[in-house]
Amino acid sequence: QKGERLITPWEVSEDIDYKETMEKFGIKPFKDILNKLETPHRLMRRGVIFGHRDFENIVECIRGGKRFAVVSGMMPSGRMHFGHKMVVDQLIYYQNYNAEIYIPIADLEAYWARGIDFERIKKLAVEEYITNYIALGLTLKNTRIYLQSQNSVVKDLALKLAKRVNLSEMKAIYGFSGETNIGHIFAPIIQVADILHPQLEERMPVLVPVGIDQDPHIRLTRDIAGRCKEYNFIHPSSTYHRFMTGLTGGKMSSSKEETAIFLSDKPSEELRKKVMSCKTGGRETLEDHRKYGGVPEKCVVYELYLYHLVDDDRELREIYERCRSGDLTCGRCKKLCYEKLTEFLKDLNERREVAREQAWEILR
Ligand code: SF4
Repeated sequence: QKGERLITPWEVSEDIDYKETMEKFGIKPFKDILNKLETPHRLMRRGVIFGHRDFENIVECIRGGKRFAVVSGMMPSGRMHFGHKMVVDQLIYYQNYNAEIYIPIADLEAYWARGIDFERIKKLAVEEYITNYIALGLTLKNTRIYLQSQNSVVKDLALKLAKRVNLSEMKAIYGFSGETNIGHIFAPIIQVADILHPQLEERMPVLVPVGIDQDPHIRLTRDIAGRCKEYNFIHPSSTYHRFMTGLTGGKMSSSKEETAIFLSDKPSEELRKKVMSCKTGGRETLEDHRKYGGVPEKCVVYELYLYHLVDDDRELREIYERCRSGDLTCGRCKKLCYEKLTEFLKDLNERREVAREQAWEILR
């Protein structure tokens, strides 16, 4: 439709209205299913994961001890930051249950859509991403990490699935133009195959945890799954998480150093300065802050606690209340944030040394 906002995976509008999108595309609120899980992850408890499709199937597997698959692709394009960590946290959570984890590395898509060569993607995937995934706690048992270009099962399935979708549909979903190369147009079909191929081995529910910008892929995958009667696929389930705000208030991005904290950052004066100059929800003056209290909902520091640095709900509530009452000042709060961050990064840095060797073993 002319004038209508098109959400595509290649381009994220910063002011996406989640509610509007959920209603329009039939995504259900995650909070309605939360109490079905005995021990939901903090990202679920805190509303960071806010929507789902068919997560009931996954709940059934979790509660009944049944097997399911989780597919989470990566397209390495720079350093891994805290926004990326969110997905890994979810994979680790599902590993506590009977999940088989699939991690496709989108080297074909990176080549077609961004012109990045295969060797560079592989090196970045191993040294930056897989190394961090392992260091963060992902276990390699029941985890399959592969390069799309090297997985013939996925490629063969994609060739067959390609018959089930036409160019008009692809253009309507992704906004491709006459200038788009054919590889780029085919890339989403490879991703559909990434998501559906675990069911070729064993028919089981598959979950794809994504940001809302990836929903066009999910819808396409579910449509194609329904069109392939010969495979009898279960429609894949999905969850949707919020994006992390960048340190300066906009989007967190690998290409804008000042907006992100990277997993390979070392505790340093530079990092301390970055945290101390984060956008907060504090008032203009200290006097006003004491009088009216801060606004944690608009604060990047609070978001770091909420998403990553404070696992204990009681501790988080205390920070929230002390901020709202004006008892906690932004200066002290940012100092606390830097301390927590330092502790986390030191530990991660040590674990990454061992993880790097394991990561290279996987794709050798
Ligand atoms: Fe943010 Fe902390 Fe300031 Fe509250 S006190 S606005 S949580 S930095």
